[in-house]
Amino acid sequence: MRVRTAAALATAGFVAHAAPSVTALPPVRRRVAPAWHAVGAPGHVALTFDDGPDPVSTPRVVDELDRLGVKATFFMLGSMVRLSPGLAAEVAAAGHEVAVHGDVHVSELWRSPGAVVTDLLRARDAVAHATGSTPRWFRPPYGIVSSAGPVAARRAGLRLVLWTTWGRDWRAAATPSSVVADVSRDLCDGATVLLHDSDCTSDPGAWRAAVGALQPLTELVRARGWRIGPLAEHGL
Ligand SMILES: [Zn+2]
Repeated sequence: MRVRTAAALATAGFVAHAAPSVTALPPVRRRVAPAWHAVGAPGHVALTFDDGPDPVSTPRVVDELDRLGVKATFFMLGSMVRLSPGLAAEVAAAGHEVAVHGDVHVSELWRSPGAVVTDLLRARDAVAHATGSTPRWFRPPYGIVSSAGPVAARRAGLRLVLWTTWGRDWRAAATPSSVVADVSRDLCDGATVLLHDSDCTSDPGAWRAAVGALQPLTELVRARGWRIGPLAEHGL
């Protein structure tokens, strides 16, 4: 219903004002902002995590990925990186791709254009400084892109990318099975999967459902004959 309403608003010419707030809805996003939609090359599924690094949960995610032989992309918050710079470096050193999720987890819609730019530059510098890597991607909090978002991304030398399917793993009620079921709903060839390696904006302990889903999800992707890996290998 939310999707149908947003689509109706979009076709009614509401896009200029509403596009930022509806880009998080995949069916609408396909129409409004295909460049950010994150459909990659055939035969590859990108695995991405938001909201870390978190000393409680990120090491568990990294360990499980290591066990499964999977590399992923971690969209880090600058504020979390400053709290755990060594952990951010460990994620990069383990062969994962580091990316930028903003400095603090606030929607762009609640900030001035100048504040959006300042936040992103601060986050980019925190990630780059801690990991020694130059991040390439930016995914804004909640997947909400204001008119200032693309400007800020250009200024920071980052490319905006959202996702095509998510595990709704931020909910207390999420389980490994529910995460796999939710991801499967829109799991297509070239999909970009969104999960979370921290509960800093989710229900406490919700990350455990994401960790538990990684093996069945990896098996599901591989059973379809696709590879699973970071955005760097997604052909975007
Ligand atoms: Zn987030």
